[in-house]
Amino acid sequence: MTMPYKLWSFHGGLHLPGHKDISTQQPSGAVFIPRRLVLPLQQHIGEPAEPAVKIGERVLGGQIIAYANGYVSVPLHAPTSGTISDISEQKAPHPSNLKTRCIILETDGKDEWCELEPISNYQKLDPSALRNRIRDAGIVGLGGAGFPSFIKLNPGSRTVVDQLVINAAECEPYISCDDQLMREQPGEILQGIQIMQHALQARLCIIGIEDNKPEAYKALQQAISELNIDTIQLIRIPTIYPTGGEKQLIKVLTGKESPSNGLPLDIGVVCHNVATAASIYAAINLGKPLVSRLVTLTGDGIKNPRNHQVLIGTPIDEWIKHNGGYEPGVNQLIMGGPMMGFNLETDQVPIIKTSNCILALCEPETHPPAVPCIRCGACMDVCPANLLPQQLYWQAFASDFDKIQDYNLFDCIECGCCSYVCPSQIPLVQYYRFAKTEIWAMERDKRKSDQARQRHEFRLERLEKEKQERAERMRKKKAALNANKSASSKDDSKKQAIEAALARVRDKKKQANTEIRNTDNLTADQQKKIDEIEFRRQQNSENPKT
Ligand code: SF4
Ligand code: SF4
Repeated sequence: MTMPYKLWSFHGGLHLPGHKDISTQQPSGAVFIPRRLVLPLQQHIGEPAEPAVKIGERVLGGQIIAYANGYVSVPLHAPTSGTISDISEQKAPHPSNLKTRCIILETDGKDEWCELEPISNYQKLDPSALRNRIRDAGIVGLGGAGFPSFIKLNPGSRTVVDQLVINAAECEPYISCDDQLMREQPGEILQGIQIMQHALQARLCIIGIEDNKPEAYKALQQAISELNIDTIQLIRIPTIYPTGGEKQLIKVLTGKESPSNGLPLDIGVVCHNVATAASIYAAINLGKPLVSRLVTLTGDGIKNPRNHQVLIGTPIDEWIKHNGGYEPGVNQLIMGGPMMGFNLETDQVPIIKTSNCILALCEPETHPPAVPCIRCGACMDVCPANLLPQQLYWQAFASDFDKIQDYNLFDCIECGCCSYVCPSQIPLVQYYRFAKTEIWAMERDKRKSDQARQRHEFRLERLEKEKQERAERMRKKKAALNANKSASSKDDSKKQAIEAALARVRDKKKQANTEIRNTDNLTADQQKKIDEIEFRRQQNSENPKT
């Protein structure tokens, strides 16, 4: 007999219609290879990858086409064989609709692959070597914002990971790719989880799956018993939106509250998605990098709704056409689900690593206009992050970006529950996104101006140093000149002394001559000799020897 697992609950949340059956009626089927792939260099949180290929180069499937650029970055691989035709700015799926740098690969349909290097016994690998392999395979979180998985698999030197939580909740309406993956590849998911446990050195793992996925639950349960795994627990949880939020799921399964502005790791828990686990299995056991993913194509605007294995970089328009196209009257295209997804202006953008669903709707876009807040508090009652959504709205409306942070804006997971229940039809989440974007922009500007100020201060410091060095050189030069001068003045006085001495000698000689010429007391002979000497001297001076 198994003991019932104790579950906790989180504040707020909503019971929403699932609409998941629409896309789970057929198997996911073979991968579709489009004519060309558009591969954005930025498909994850962190620095965009740097191209490793040149235009005109032929590449094989699985080959690295862009290198990781810094620690928070992962490489990008060719999803199939073909030729690089361009590296340029292209429209990418993003709420901003801005262009981003992409590698364009013209596929050749041969699907030739480079040699893969699977690891037969990962248990023998050091956890850090395992994380490096996961990084090199380009794996990012496939259930959320696309954070590089190898970083989340690093517990740090001082942190003990009590539990690895696997998110199989998939709580957002319409999205069913994780459900289908669990039905079709339960063994791969479980083996991927075991690899994660080894990387984290986490003995225990809990998989949280919503109770609206009985087939997936059964498939996982069966695989657990077939593989005889006793360190992974599969737990069914109530279907409440947004149980699939990381902090909400951890609360439900462990009772632990993740700190505001903190990480689950701070409370000894790490959370990953089931699809990430399956891609880690492929990377380690098959040596295959992340080049495709399961994506839900659904909504009343799609002729053939399904889950389909799609190559990263596949243009959405080509993919939808391949699957039968649109129903007439489609007027809204969303990447993600109806609660947390964002509108696509065009279908001529590619599927990227974080694309889990394309939702096409025919419903008329008749959003009633927003009216002033009536302070009913309904938004507060449903907020799963225990925030005060109306206060956040007021501060965002007033553009008071300091005060809004006092209300923990960054704990808002943008689940959309508050907007969903607001009787005034206020698009609350859009206000929060606007405030977050403004704060990030201000922080970016501040960082830039801090860097500019630092550069200016360094320049001033350098100029001052150079000035001091110049002054020191001048001082030394002057000192050297003065030293030379005093040496030469010493020489002058020496010269003067010599000349004075010579003068004195000359005077003495003169005096002696004068004394000699004093003839008063000379004899006649002496006088004669002197006259002769004088005569010869005169002659010598008049006729000098030649
Ligand atoms: S639900 Fe809407 S109307 Fe009610 S308090 Fe919140 S923002 Fe105001
Ligand atoms: S969008 Fe943010 S504020 Fe609104 S309910 Fe969700 S977490 Fe709360």
